[in-house]
Amino acid sequence: QPRVVIIGAGIVGCALADELSARGWTDITVLEQGPLFATGGSSSHAPGLVYQTVGCKTMTQLASYTVEKYTDMTLDGKWCFQQLGGLEIATSRERWDDLHRKQGWATSWGVETSLVGPEECAKLHPLLDPDKVLGGFYNPSDGLAKPLRAAEAQAREAIDRGARFLAHHKVTGIERHAGKVRAVTTDQGEFRADIVVSCVGMWGPRIGAMVDLTIPLVPMAHQYAKTSPLPVLDGVNDELHEMSKPLLRHQDADLYFREHVDRIGIGAYGHRPMPIGVDEILDPDVAPTMPSEMAFTEEDFDQSWEDAVDLLPCLAEAKVEEGINGLFSFTPDGNPLLGEHPDLDGFWVAEAVWITHSAGVAKAMAEWLIEGQPGIDLHNCDLNRFEQVQLSPGYVHQRSCQSFNEVYDVLHPLQPAEKPRPLRTSPFYDRQTELGAYFLEASGWERPHWYETNANLPEIDLIPERNEWASRFWSPIAGAEALVARERVAMFDMTALKRLEVTGPEALNFLQTMTTNQLNRKPGAVVYTLLLGEDGGVRSDLTVARLAEDRFQIGANSNIDLEWLRSHLPPTGTVQVRDITAGTCCIGLWGPRARDLLQPLTKEDFSHKALGFFKAKHAYIGDVPVTAMRLSYVGELGWELYTTADMGLKLWDTLWEAGQRHGVIAAGRSAFNSMRLEKGYRSWGADMTTEHDPFEAGVGFAVRMDKGYFLGRDALEERMETPNTRQLTCLTIADDYQVVMGSEPVYAHGKPVGYVTSAARGYTIGRNIAYAWLPAELAEPGTPVEIEYFGERVAAVVAAEPLFDPDMTRIRS
Ligand code: FAD
Repeated sequence: QPRVVIIGAGIVGCALADELSARGWTDITVLEQGPLFATGGSSSHAPGLVYQTVGCKTMTQLASYTVEKYTDMTLDGKWCFQQLGGLEIATSRERWDDLHRKQGWATSWGVETSLVGPEECAKLHPLLDPDKVLGGFYNPSDGLAKPLRAAEAQAREAIDRGARFLAHHKVTGIERHAGKVRAVTTDQGEFRADIVVSCVGMWGPRIGAMVDLTIPLVPMAHQYAKTSPLPVLDGVNDELHEMSKPLLRHQDADLYFREHVDRIGIGAYGHRPMPIGVDEILDPDVAPTMPSEMAFTEEDFDQSWEDAVDLLPCLAEAKVEEGINGLFSFTPDGNPLLGEHPDLDGFWVAEAVWITHSAGVAKAMAEWLIEGQPGIDLHNCDLNRFEQVQLSPGYVHQRSCQSFNEVYDVLHPLQPAEKPRPLRTSPFYDRQTELGAYFLEASGWERPHWYETNANLPEIDLIPERNEWASRFWSPIAGAEALVARERVAMFDMTALKRLEVTGPEALNFLQTMTTNQLNRKPGAVVYTLLLGEDGGVRSDLTVARLAEDRFQIGANSNIDLEWLRSHLPPTGTVQVRDITAGTCCIGLWGPRARDLLQPLTKEDFSHKALGFFKAKHAYIGDVPVTAMRLSYVGELGWELYTTADMGLKLWDTLWEAGQRHGVIAAGRSAFNSMRLEKGYRSWGADMTTEHDPFEAGVGFAVRMDKGYFLGRDALEERMETPNTRQLTCLTIADDYQVVMGSEPVYAHGKPVGYVTSAARGYTIGRNIAYAWLPAELAEPGTPVEIEYFGERVAAVVAAEPLFDPDMTRIRS
């Protein structure tokens, strides 16, 4: 059994000790710098509201497990969770629409909720003024956690199984040896450890610095106040139960409410972001009250108080009696930071976790540590999801402030980062800007979604109008670009996609064991293949080009893939993995006239015979050395043309100039996404994740069971014995106006049966497309279903895929 040291006895550390020990790991020491269990950390202040429903399936799952676990938990006979229900009200049309969308998410993720009118809202929460409310979203299974009780109850379970909790032990250093953690040092001595899990919440960057690990979070103050006693609550609640009405959220004013016996507690996110440096957090022995509690700044609360009185008129008789600016963690994308240090074995992190997700996170972490992988998809929470540029102090600060501002905002799925921008630009950026590119941001990259100079394409008249929501961050120009790419030829900037280089005498063997497809082919072959987890779930999909006997270029999905490969490298040093994204760039040159454009620019033969589908070769395009790969994610004739960053602009200009007589255009991500869905090409992270096996996700063609061992093979063998119960399925929508966005629930025979993964207008096929997970028996083409979109049912039908060019005649031409 490994010796485990958990740093921090907040709710996350306690929950983790419980989950680990429940699975049989009992050599656990929890080191806490403060007293137990009111340690002075964020858990000591949270009023404990647990709302489960968000657009991210993973975060909802983490919250739902927390609810499930805490519901029956008690400490010395006192409750740890009261399932009072959670009500979120709308006072604006936009919010009311958004609550419909939210109810769709709840249905997609299997949480039972309802939308209620103003009178029903007032029945559920009699203190609110129904005249101010358009309606509410009600989740009866939401509720209130008592964080310190839940923390202690879980700690006691762990202690009963052999874990120890040591108060007033401040961790001051981490000992390492040969790339592994060895011990944790504290002001009270050293503790040997095979595994260390840092659960220190907003102190994360301090512990991270001890092991040269950047923890991208910012401690920020959030205002929480309690009123004076209210006559209307006199005698309503008792000291034990504290409250009897549902939790209440008024997101249009960035507010939430709960009762504290005869007072109301009010939380506010409307104030200016109040970040503090991690070194400014006081130590427990120095802090006047508690390190996570700062003095209440009344002036920041004025507007919140006005808005609160407006919604709950009874507050007019009361005043704010006490308040805090309580500190907790914010991250650049609002999600937790979970996972292992990329360069130090045995050092793990579970930080930036809300009370809401605490038990869910602890369970997933325990599974990850013990079984090698969490039971649910955690890629949105993975510590290693950020690119290096996203770890700069400026980036982390600005994006975390944006996360704070957006906590209760109605957020569009394409809503971009505001600052710092532009950050990463491809070598084509100046040309794209000249062409009026509309940029959105991805992993720090500026990516053109369409080009304003294409507004004069006549095809634009063919593009139907769409609903207001789907029109945001969209232009009909994107549709025209897609049509032109199918008729003529277009240049797509593919630079932002992650590129890795794997080299060394053992490179082939390494990649063979890591991925599912047969890579043992001659140099010049390109293969679509999958990374699986031990359980056969799809961790990523890759294109692997063998460029020489011992050199491979990989098109990957994210930094997580890089770390996954790195963490499996043979210790012999015979394989190297390198991220070459930033030093290189790529143009996807696609469309029926792509060859007419390219061939005259090069002495190499680019005919189908000389360079077939899924083949690669080196060539000079004009003066530019490129690696050309005969691939197309949009389903057209053409190549991905890679070159070094210094030659990128030259490549763009060469193609652009030569392309004028062929009617070349630059086309953006929006057209790209539509075209890939017409071809049925999956996008990892949206359409499939670790929760799905290749067969149900429709990528079983990339698995070669007969090639010998690969990671995940044994699990697949087992999975192949049972038929799929679910299937990633292509749907088309008859109504041109209804372009859906993803995560919407799908109904059959009036019952929810699945959810949409990604969706777009199919400009060429003239229909709207949605991919969705459905029960296998419904995956038959022709099956009618309905997609719920902002509360309305949109008719859709299962279609045979791919929708465009199923015989691959265009791509192979
Ligand atoms: P913490 O509770 O901060 O625990 C971390 C522990 O690590 C601390 O005890 C600290 O002393 C210890 N530690 C740090 N450094 C060291 C060291 N060097 N050596 C040893 N120990 C160390 N969340 C919700 O879900 N719902 C809410 O309604 C809600 N409301 C909130 C309201 C306020 C005012 C605040 C402040 C937070 C709120 N939160 C809410 C957020 C929530 O409180 C936190 O996200 C959560 O408590 C974090 O738990 P944790 O265990 O990670 O961190």
